[in-house]
Amino acid sequence: MMAGLLNISEPNASSPTDTFNNQNNSHNGLNNDFLNNLTTDATKANQPIARKHNREEIAELFDLPLMDLLLQAQTIHRAHFTANEVQISTLLSIKTGNCPEDCGYCSQSGHHRDTTKLQAEKRIEVDKVIAAAKRAKASGSSRFCMGAAWKHPSAKDMPYVVELIKEVKALGLETCMTLGMLDTNQATQLADAGLDYYNHNLDTSRSYYEQVVSTRSYDERLDTIDNVRNSGINVCSGNIVGMGESRDDRIDWVHELLKMPKAPESIPVNLLVPIKGTPIGDKVLAEGQLSVIEWIRTIAVARICCPTSYVRLSAGRESLSDSEQALAFMAGANSFFYGDKLLTTGNASQSGDDRLMRELGLTKQFAAPRAPKVLPVMDAMSGHQSQVVMAE
Ligand code: SF4
Repeated sequence: MMAGLLNISEPNASSPTDTFNNQNNSHNGLNNDFLNNLTTDATKANQPIARKHNREEIAELFDLPLMDLLLQAQTIHRAHFTANEVQISTLLSIKTGNCPEDCGYCSQSGHHRDTTKLQAEKRIEVDKVIAAAKRAKASGSSRFCMGAAWKHPSAKDMPYVVELIKEVKALGLETCMTLGMLDTNQATQLADAGLDYYNHNLDTSRSYYEQVVSTRSYDERLDTIDNVRNSGINVCSGNIVGMGESRDDRIDWVHELLKMPKAPESIPVNLLVPIKGTPIGDKVLAEGQLSVIEWIRTIAVARICCPTSYVRLSAGRESLSDSEQALAFMAGANSFFYGDKLLTTGNASQSGDDRLMRELGLTKQFAAPRAPKVLPVMDAMSGHQSQVVMAE
């Protein structure tokens, strides 16, 4: 082991520093290994050697005393990302409501519209989306995410979403979309337009999934994620905790991320916002919500197991105190949504976020949008127009 490396794959390596040693902690091997090998110079130049945790190790992480878990998560976070820097996105619903899927937590599902009374809306016009993207950029967002309540985009929707990607990228913003399922052809079209991220959440474990959605299978979700990854678009895929699932389900969800060829580049860890009139929302409102600490544990475990991924705070933030959000950042979250609304649920206010960032000493990360894969070019002499495919 090289000096200065935080090596979590060599359990018997001697410790270069005892600064954080916890000789009395015999909670489990993972914890002692980590503390024994912890150095204070975990910089990006000296990155820990990442390895895939097995299911048992993921479960052990969940069981750690909270402070040990947070220390480990924050140290791993600092080894891969600039400390105290957060990526900020703004989310806009470009087509709201009457979704054909039956996600049990979602007010936009057409299956729950009689009880949620959510008013469906048509696609938003391109110029209105661009105006919203400009406002997002002016307020400090580096990524603009666009969501549509579709099972999948239709053939007539594709030119619309491709235009949105190009126009938003022209503003210097990163782009993200969540439009439902994608086949390989659609993923390629979005990649060619330069889409940076595509969001498609697994939501929960494979075994709890049937309690949440019946109109789209777990394997269909994994297929879409594969199509996105294979097209060259960054994958954004997360979960929702607090839907009545067990800790075993949360462990299985993390394990599912690690079974992928590559962990998602962005991992939203949502805390359920229970919406009256949705089956899961009504159940949680009647039976009580999950402890916020368990959500923070889930963030920390995702950070440790997926050290190079952005871990995103999404839904659920508006009901949290400053201290709870600070703990989430301590747990390794380094991305969140700006704006008063997340699709149809409320979000923490922007002025409140700015104040909290100042108090915590957090700074905003700049955008780094990827270039479109296909660029139009014109021959200056002949005026002939063609396209060039850019190398990745
Ligand atoms: S979560 Fe998405 S796919 Fe599911 S009902 Fe809501 S909008 Fe549709």
